[in-house]
Amino acid sequence: MNPEENTADLVARFDFAATLARIAEEVRDLVGQGKVAAYIPRLAEVPADRFGMAVATLDGRVFEVGDAATPFSIQSISKVFTLTLALEALGGDLWKRVGREPSGSAFNSLVQLERESGIPRNPLINAGAHVVADVILSSTPTAQADLLEFVRARADNRAIVMDEEVAASERDAGFRNAALANFIRSFRNLDNPVERVLDFYFHQCALQMSCLDLARAFLYLANRGRCQRSGQSVISAERAKRINALMLTCGTYDAAGEFAFRVGLPAKSGVGGGIVAVVPNALTLAVWSPGLDEKGNSLAGAAALDRFTALTGLSIF
Ligand code: GLU
Repeated sequence: MNPEENTADLVARFDFAATLARIAEEVRDLVGQGKVAAYIPRLAEVPADRFGMAVATLDGRVFEVGDAATPFSIQSISKVFTLTLALEALGGDLWKRVGREPSGSAFNSLVQLERESGIPRNPLINAGAHVVADVILSSTPTAQADLLEFVRARADNRAIVMDEEVAASERDAGFRNAALANFIRSFRNLDNPVERVLDFYFHQCALQMSCLDLARAFLYLANRGRCQRSGQSVISAERAKRINALMLTCGTYDAAGEFAFRVGLPAKSGVGGGIVAVVPNALTLAVWSPGLDEKGNSLAGAAALDRFTALTGLSIF
């Protein structure tokens, strides 16, 4: 990007349709490689050979390629939505119960939690998301419905659902999450019964959204906390900044450093193979391909985001 060029001008005249088509072609050999998450049995059934990508710009345009309209299980990407709701519910006091540092260990690790007395390193690992879920449950009697409503409003799509079969499948295999939540509760960092926290958590992970839905839904984080369509405040500009910072440092598992190095954007991934990235003041990107690398990020998805920032120069660095 020419440094004199204004991002808004660049976005307005950039041929994103052609860029996405080119990227889909370039990453084609990676699609189907990697491993589809199998520890949640229902996710193992998703065909590995899918690839979709979408861009949503702050001037209201949307571009797509491949399977961008196919809903998939967003899994950990949901942690960004719940963090938004928990920050609104509790404000800065949230940070007494969860940290803001990269964990440097797996997203479902137990070891660190013991050393750090039940205060999870950050809200984007599983333990942190359990605390965030607990905060939301304490703030409203209709937590699950509120989350669904929030996500539908952000994506402007009333058809978004939580897949009950995915939630049940994860619950039946969710021994590690149960261990984490019980452990946190033993340190008195959960107020609600562990079963309620886990039920909410498994349902948030079971949200089914497409790349188009996710790109639209994340626009408030590219737009200083404001809804791109209505202009209304979803969250303050300061909180949007903090959430983006956490995505950059903690959003892509134990590969966040490598991801920032390669892609240079705040992003959140999920084991369903989705990754959402934010170009502040410009646009959002969502990509989906179920084959994961050894750290749990979509193999073709990460490559596609890497190519996007290389081809367009749109990164935060
Ligand atoms: N529901 C998944 C789990 O708790 C989410 C993992 C992820 O997407 O990072 O294991």
